[in-house]
Amino acid sequence: MTEQKDSNNEQQEVGLYEKLANRTAELLEEGKKTLDEALKKAKEELSKAGNFSGEQMDKVASYVRRDLVENAGKASEAVRQSVDPHRVAAGVQSVFSRILTSTADALSDLAQKTEKTLEFKTGEITSPGTLTCKDCGAEMHMKSTVRIPPCPKCHKTLFRKSY
Ligand SMILES: [Zn+2]
Repeated sequence: MTEQKDSNNEQQEVGLYEKLANRTAELLEEGKKTLDEALKKAKEELSKAGNFSGEQMDKVASYVRRDLVENAGKASEAVRQSVDPHRVAAGVQSVFSRILTSTADALSDLAQKTEKTLEFKTGEITSPGTLTCKDCGAEMHMKSTVRIPPCPKCHKTLFRKSY
């Protein structure tokens, strides 16, 4: 019974992640808001529309925020190395790729401060990309928004992300 419930819950949270990420990206693209303002507004809108608990919303929002900051970090890295951020984003099938250039500057300070501490754990939800096990180096290639499974090789639960 709990398995059924968990599975529904999982689908819901992946869906919520995508809605929240899309709406936050739209608000950021308008260029009038900082990341945290945009995220807050997107959360408020979705809270009214859906039946998610505040706890669920905060948890999923923290994943969206982490992934946005992480993407901005990649984009500003590309700018420093004189690579077109769009080329970096070319392989990223996610909502974040389209906002890389428009918001990279605004987010880059944030990204530089937090980039090194970004961690991806089993059970969290994240956007498409490659997760590398911090323990054994095994790679998982994610093509859609997913809940992160344990490492397929060593079953550890900590990863770093690349594209
Ligand atoms: Zn591993």
